[in-house]
Amino acid sequence: MLITDLRSDTVTKPTPAMLAYMFEAEVGDDVYEEDPTVNALEQMAAEMFGMQAGLFCPSGTMTNQIAIKAHTEPLTEVICDVSSHIYQYEGGGIMFNAAASVALVHGERGKLTPEQVEAHIRPLHNIHYPVTKLVSLENTANKGGGAYYTLTEIAAISAICRQHELALHLDGARVFNALVAAQEQPRAYGQYFDSISVCLSKGLGAPVGSVLLGSKAFIMKCKRIRKAMGGGMRQAGYLAAAGIYALRHHVERLQDDHRRAKTLEEALLQANYTDYVLPVQTNIVIFKLNHRFTGQAFVEALAKHQIRATAFGPQLVRFVTHLQVTDEHLAHTLKVLNELNT
Ligand SMILES: *Cc1c(COP(=O)(O)O)cnc(C)c1O
Repeated sequence: MLITDLRSDTVTKPTPAMLAYMFEAEVGDDVYEEDPTVNALEQMAAEMFGMQAGLFCPSGTMTNQIAIKAHTEPLTEVICDVSSHIYQYEGGGIMFNAAASVALVHGERGKLTPEQVEAHIRPLHNIHYPVTKLVSLENTANKGGGAYYTLTEIAAISAICRQHELALHLDGARVFNALVAAQEQPRAYGQYFDSISVCLSKGLGAPVGSVLLGSKAFIMKCKRIRKAMGGGMRQAGYLAAAGIYALRHHVERLQDDHRRAKTLEEALLQANYTDYVLPVQTNIVIFKLNHRFTGQAFVEALAKHQIRATAFGPQLVRFVTHLQVTDEHLAHTLKVLNELNT
């Protein structure tokens, strides 16, 4: 039976070729820094993004949390969008791990402007306020329906951060979707960010893992924090191999995911049960239903046709295209979306 899983790009499973590559990995004890495959992945990712060093971690939540902990201290503050993953979906980790405060910006589709960043920086010599330390961007913005920043936008925010001596972090869970859509190269990112978290297990299709990138000194500090969080892994090269394979083979194909997401958007714009669709820029489609369906009822109607989706709010639904959504899945979904018109 054809099951179409549009819930998230986290549901991908390794392809046979990726699995074969993983089995062949040379491994060692990575806590002793002796796993050649982990070392190779960290170096490869760092070079791609024009950074000095990398750190392989079990999840994107861990790379974000380690970076936030390393950039801040108690009584300081992180500026981020109110819908950002680091604030909404990391279990309150900023408070738990870093004991830092957050300044929440109401951005446009999860994206901040340089003006908004500047407006949220606290006056330095007033003890009523926490000390602003860090700005965190999300590219692409998940809750923003996969909206992306261009390099020009990033450069402008980075300039504000430099001027105010703030660190700039990137939650790049889907940074390759952003780069492919904007037709930009990752290397330029290194000059604008102090740390970058790159997820290998979303659209890139690796089973596990994220890489945190930064300067050598920063990554040394992060390695200590990773150990204290219990994230030091041993023969992790089998997992890192999947990451290397994904970086080599699964980046360009993201444009196929974007094309399929765009086709879903067109069908939803034609439907009589949608109120609006957030204009699709990458692989995420977020839409609002009108009175004909609640989010939950719509997800259940799709489930009857073996299509899985996420209710993203009372009237909101999210589709995500990924490595294992083929043109056959797409055709089936388009047919069902059409049949749901009454
Ligand atoms: C998925 C995701 C993460 C990291 O999630 P993990 O499941 O911990 O790997 C971070 N940021 C964004 C925007 C995400 O979508």
